[in-house]
Amino acid sequence: MALEDMRSPIESGCPDGFQYMHPTMRKNFGQWKYHEHPRPGVLLHVAHSGDQIWTVKAGTQRILDVYSLRKLTEIGDKFADGYIRFTLRSNIEYMVTDEAKVEPMIKALEDAGFIVGGTANSVAMMSHTQGWLHCDIPGTDASGVVKAMMDELIDEFKQCNMPNRVHITTSCCQINCGGQGDIAINVQHTKPPKINHDLVANVCERPTVVARCPVAAIRPAMVNGKPSLEVDEKKCICCGACFPPCPPMQINDPENSKLAIWVGGNHSNARSKPTFQKLVAAGVPNNPPRWPEATAIVKRILKEYKEGAKDWERINDWIDRIGWPRFFEVTGLPFTKYHIDNWRGARNSLNASTHIRF
Ligand code: SF4
Ligand code: SF4
Repeated sequence: MALEDMRSPIESGCPDGFQYMHPTMRKNFGQWKYHEHPRPGVLLHVAHSGDQIWTVKAGTQRILDVYSLRKLTEIGDKFADGYIRFTLRSNIEYMVTDEAKVEPMIKALEDAGFIVGGTANSVAMMSHTQGWLHCDIPGTDASGVVKAMMDELIDEFKQCNMPNRVHITTSCCQINCGGQGDIAINVQHTKPPKINHDLVANVCERPTVVARCPVAAIRPAMVNGKPSLEVDEKKCICCGACFPPCPPMQINDPENSKLAIWVGGNHSNARSKPTFQKLVAAGVPNNPPRWPEATAIVKRILKEYKEGAKDWERINDWIDRIGWPRFFEVTGLPFTKYHIDNWRGARNSLNASTHIRF
């Protein structure tokens, strides 16, 4: 085929970010001399060219309605030359080249009900998964947990009082997105799924569901003369992976779907390897609309971290230094049988080998 006859590819995926970048950022890309943190929620970058640019960060609720978005963009048009960007944790950032506009912009954001902060050694905005709004398998509403907790942690977002930054996450199921943070609040199912045998044959592709179970606890069965499935409850680890391909295997329930709190997850960086989270509280009530039990545990961990960690220690560094027995002692969390990973298949999973899973 001649070159001119070939169809040009349809690009999908991320657009080039440079086209949306503030011109001063674009001009000085890779040419920064130093940066400072003049106050919580504001960063100052100084370039070798002598250009200066202030970044103002404000928290948002992530799932933004059109009115809030309009308000935020109006503020951007007025103070930040019409440029905005969103961070991974759904904060909005404005770039300002005129120092005189920084304080009026902060005032405009606060007058409109937004909070400025989340930089450096603060508790950044909690990130969360989609919950009821977009997904078909959540066991709780992650954004509700975030709202309830951030209402109580708002001062830690606005100030920089922590030994180092703290990233908190929430996830609304046990198997898919989210989860990696200094503190993670995740759904924990505690009972095997209940099967509605009347629906399985019409709704589920049984081999897919059988293949989906990580511990081979599901097998085909005939129930009341209809093709269905059965679960070996002794093997089942209550992960919930069978529920998405087969909704009649209902695992969510208001009593037995709980929350679990994990700590110490951290991505690798220039100095250290990645660290995995460890479970510190299991069976915490999934108690909307304010989740008081889970919030109390998170606040307790943060209080002890704030008081006990040295400057620059992340939560995992602090625990590594004091040890797990001391962590449970200072936080007052009970150490129970659920904290021991005694699952016999664990050594073959947990990314410890080049193990292929289907
Ligand atoms: S964590 Fe699970 S339930 Fe929540 S959005 Fe992700 S896949 Fe859906
Ligand atoms: S909940 Fe998980 S372990 Fe239990 S049967 Fe379903 S997929 Fe298997």
